[in-house]
Amino acid sequence: MAALPGRRAIGRGRRSIRAGWALRAGFAEGRERGETVPDPGAVERGATADPAGFAPEAAPRHVYVHVPFCGAKCHYCDFAVFVGPRTPWEALYLEALERELALVLAPYGGAYPFPIETLYLGGGTPTALSPAALERLFDLLERAFPRRAPGMEWTVEANPEGLVGDEGRALLRWLRGRGTTRLSIGVQTFDDAQLSALGRRHTGREAEAAVLAAREAGFVHLSLDLIYGLPGQTFEGWTADVRRAFGLPIDHLSAYALEVAEATRFGRMQAAGALPLPDDDRVVEMYAFVAAAARDAGFEPYEVSNFARPGGRSRHNLAYWNNRPYFGFGPGAHGYAFGVRTANVPSLPRYVRARTLSEFRTEVRPVGRREAIEETMFLGLRLAEGVRRDAFRRRFGVDLEDVYGPVLRRLEAEGLIVIDARGIRLPEAVRPVMNAVLAEFLFDDR
Ligand code: SF4
Repeated sequence: MAALPGRRAIGRGRRSIRAGWALRAGFAEGRERGETVPDPGAVERGATADPAGFAPEAAPRHVYVHVPFCGAKCHYCDFAVFVGPRTPWEALYLEALERELALVLAPYGGAYPFPIETLYLGGGTPTALSPAALERLFDLLERAFPRRAPGMEWTVEANPEGLVGDEGRALLRWLRGRGTTRLSIGVQTFDDAQLSALGRRHTGREAEAAVLAAREAGFVHLSLDLIYGLPGQTFEGWTADVRRAFGLPIDHLSAYALEVAEATRFGRMQAAGALPLPDDDRVVEMYAFVAAAARDAGFEPYEVSNFARPGGRSRHNLAYWNNRPYFGFGPGAHGYAFGVRTANVPSLPRYVRARTLSEFRTEVRPVGRREAIEETMFLGLRLAEGVRRDAFRRRFGVDLEDVYGPVLRRLEAEGLIVIDARGIRLPEAVRPVMNAVLAEFLFDDR
C-alpha cells in the first residue's frame, strides 16, 4: 500500500511545514510521475515583483514562540527540548528571547505595529516555566506585540501534570487572566501502561482531570493531542482512547500517527528491532476510526489530522496550512516572514549564546515563486476545503488551471482530487495516503 503520510508528515502545524520541506526533497528524488506536469511558463506569466506571492506589506499576523523546557524527554520526541535545571536556564532563555525579539522587530522600534491574529506558545512545555518566568514571558510578548486583532487567538500548549491540583488550578486561572484563549493539552493516550512506555509523566485520569479543570477555569477552546500507531497499541486500545477523548468537554482533537525519528529512544529501539509497531494497514484503520468517531461526535475533519467542533478550529495552524506568513521565535522555531523561511538553532545552550540574528538562525531561505506555489499546494491539500482558486489567483496572479490544468484533469479522472467552483481538494479517502498525489504538484525544473 502507499506510504502513510503520518509516518512522516502528520504532526502539529509547524511539524507539517518541516515535513513539507523534507517531502519535497524526497519527491524530487524518486517520484513516479504521470505524463502531465505543471506548466512553469504559466507561473512566470503571472509573476509580479513579489517572488513569494504576497506583497511585502502583507506583514505576518501570526506568532509562534518555542518554550523548550520539559520535565523529561518523551521517548518519541524530536522537538527542541531542554530537560536540565530551570536555574539558570530559564532566565538565560528569556534574555535570549528578548534579544531575538529586539533584533527581528528593530525596524519597528521593538514593538510590532500590526495587530496580531494568533499567538502560539509551543514547546517543550510552556507551562513548565516557573510562575515568575511565565509572567516575564507574557510581559515580553505583550510589549513586543502590543496590538491584538479583535478576538485574537492565544494558544498555550500544556501537559496534564501541570494543570492538576491547587497549583494547576492557580496556573489555569492565571493563564485565563492574562488573555490565553485556548489550551492544547498533550495527552497522547489515556492508557497508563502506554503512557509509561512513552516516557510521559501523567496518568490517564490526570489527563481527564486536567481537561475538566481547564473547562472549570473558563477555557472554552480546548484541544487534545492523541497519538495512534504506538508500540504494542491494539485497535481496541485506540478506540478506547478516542472514546475517552470525545467524552470530555473539548472542541478540538489532533490525532497524529506516530513518527519515529532516528535520534530518539524509539528510533534507537527501532534500529535494534525492539519497537513492535502496528502494521500500516492497522494504522490506516485507526485513522479511519478516529475520523468516523469525530464525525459522530460533531467534529469536522478540517485537516488530515485535526478535527474541530464548529468554531473550534485552530486559527494559528490554519495560517500554516494556508501558507500565510508568521514569525517564529525561540530555539528550534521556524518562521516564514517577508518571503523568507527561517529556522533557529535548536539547542538551548547555543540559543542563549546568540547575540546577532545570524547566530540565532541555522537557516535563512528566500522562497521562490514556484516553491511558494508548491508549498501552497502541499499545505492547502491537507485541509478538507483544499486550495481555493480565488485565494490562489489573488496571491499568484494566475489561475490554478493555468499552472496545473493537465495535472488536475488527470488526477480528477483518476478520482484522486475533486475540482469544483471553489477550488481543488482531496477526497476524504485519499487524504490518509496523500503523498503520491502531492508529488504531482512539484515543478521539475525550479
Ligand atoms: S512533553 Fe512534548 S515536547 Fe516535551 S518531551 Fe514530551 S513530547 Fe517532547
